[in-house]
Amino acid sequence: MKIADYLIVGDGYAALFFAHRLIMENKSFYLFSENKQSASRVSAGIINPVVLKKFTTFWLAQEQIHDLQKTLSEMAEYTGRNYWIDEPIHRIFHNVKERELWQKKANDETLSGFLSTAFVSFDTILNPFGTGTVDQSARLNVSLFFHDFFKFLSENDRLIPEQFDYIALNPAQNQYKTIEYKNIVFCEGMGVVENPFFKDIPLQPNKGHHLKVKISKPIRTKVTLKKKHFLFPLEDDLYYYGGTYDRNQSHHEIDETAKDQLVKGLEEFYPEPFEVVDVQFGFRPTVKDRRPILGNHHEFKNLFVFNGLGARGILNGNYFAGELFQLIEYGKPLPEEVSLERFTQTK
Ligand SMILES: Cc1cc2nc3c(=O)[nH]c(=O)nc-3n(C[C@H](O)[C@H](O)[C@H](O)COP(=O)(O)OP(=O)(O)OC[C@H]3O[C@@H](n4cnc5c(N)ncnc54)[C@H](O)[C@@H]3O)c2cc1C
Repeated sequence: MKIADYLIVGDGYAALFFAHRLIMENKSFYLFSENKQSASRVSAGIINPVVLKKFTTFWLAQEQIHDLQKTLSEMAEYTGRNYWIDEPIHRIFHNVKERELWQKKANDETLSGFLSTAFVSFDTILNPFGTGTVDQSARLNVSLFFHDFFKFLSENDRLIPEQFDYIALNPAQNQYKTIEYKNIVFCEGMGVVENPFFKDIPLQPNKGHHLKVKISKPIRTKVTLKKKHFLFPLEDDLYYYGGTYDRNQSHHEIDETAKDQLVKGLEEFYPEPFEVVDVQFGFRPTVKDRRPILGNHHEFKNLFVFNGLGARGILNGNYFAGELFQLIEYGKPLPEEVSLERFTQTK
């Protein structure tokens, strides 16, 4: 019989950021990965404290940025790499009015740390009204983050590369197959619908596509450009462009309309020829009130759910992994905004 403080079910941002907390606190655990393409692995990796449609910020944005920087430097100590890419977002203005709005918002106390008024223009792309820089924005190196973290888990005998089988769980005995555990944290993203303990949490899938494109004329400065969607360099002449949002499509195939939308979006500001070399998609686990869902099962108190990371999987995943760990280990109550109880208790 193996013994573990924790079992983690899932292998996206929620699972990995929670695993990081356990590594830092010397807790023993096993992480189950069914090795399917998660939303996390197709994500752009954008770390952004601003809502770029309306130029507003959101709950805990500054705290989340600081906490992520701390986590990534801690991870660098055991994986050997820091995944923070300092290529800030430049929002391409649609018109003068938008730029004026940005300028006005930049004086706002809550936004002054994020909206720079040193407007920048780029050649190669169409940006007649310039771009505004989002200070403190960055990107995560998504592929290396997953590659290195899995290598670390595997080398330290923490990875179980198989689907977690709910039928083999005996929650009354704290036992899963040949493992005796103290707690389980379920981080399955949209896969939670198969989980008999948490299948009813109110999640909505939001399908997102992105393109990998080969551009014919490079953009010399290494930044993340944003008009309708995000464009940033990968390797060679390859760029990532995405992602779309669609709450109505739940089939597991590429949507031609989403692909067209992306091609048109890119043509709007990149006037040179480009070639689409790949299209991928994933399902964001979203919640109506745009807040994650964390909490324990009403009967089996050591079964926890960590889900609903929405469009901000990196910031939400890292920050709320810390909150969940504090709840489980020290009984610190969760902020009510993210607690599962907001859906289960009648007010
Ligand atoms: C196109 C696109 C672009 C995005 N861009 C960004 C971005 O730039 N920045 C950002 O912060 N967020 C972004 N997001 C959102 C982000 O990807 C999600 O919020 C995040 O991936 C959710 O993470 P998760 O760990 O909850 O779920 P997931 O990433 O879906 O991971 C859950 C994993 O659990 C596994 N699993 C489920 N059931 C089982 C089981 N029984 N046994 C074993 N494993 C199981 C699944 O296979 C899956 O791999 C983007 C999303 C999309 C689709």
